[in-house]
Amino acid sequence: MKNKLFVISGSSGVGKGTVLKQFLDRNHDFILSVSCTTRKPRPGEIDGVNYFYISKDDFLKSIDNNEFLEWAEFAQNMYGTKKSFVKDCFDNGKNVILEIETTGALNIKKQIPESVLIFIVPPSLEELEQRLRGRHTEDENAIQKRLSEVKIEIERAKLYDYTIVNDSVENAVTELENIVKREVKNG
Ligand code: 5GP
Repeated sequence: MKNKLFVISGSSGVGKGTVLKQFLDRNHDFILSVSCTTRKPRPGEIDGVNYFYISKDDFLKSIDNNEFLEWAEFAQNMYGTKKSFVKDCFDNGKNVILEIETTGALNIKKQIPESVLIFIVPPSLEELEQRLRGRHTEDENAIQKRLSEVKIEIERAKLYDYTIVNDSVENAVTELENIVKREVKNG
């Protein structure tokens, strides 16, 4: 059986991280790729676990040396997936999951058509709006900006192979398991 590459994207605030964590806890033949980034670690994040935190110079050198499978700029920081990381996982017989934004994801699909793109969406825009308002952390402008970004992302999700609606974490994890099992079986 050939190992597969799965790419997961999702609007921020949809609980993508929680779904992935539960999936990985239950499915040990999958590895979540650790990307390189130029952004600074947030409190609690660990170098080599959450990301490899590198300087912009080193990131640019890696681009020149053709070391990235894909890379993209997001919110003024650079993010990229190292070819060597994915290759090592495959060499160890694991399937690989990339948790990346949409530009990088669509890039991967172009290079590796047999990769599987999965998008996690909120149950509805109305619900996301309610959640954002309920947090009382953003003003009206910021909420409108977030919602229009989510609308653009949902348009891009149409180019993905699968969409999972995160109405409950348990359902979303089960759906993810069903998709990957089917895809791994079909090679
Ligand atoms: P954060 O800074 O919140 O960890 O991530 C910001 C965005 O970058 C998220 O959408 C995340 O999925 C995406 N991202 C993380 N690593 C990579 C990567 O290696 N390549 C691309 N294209 N996006 C990434």
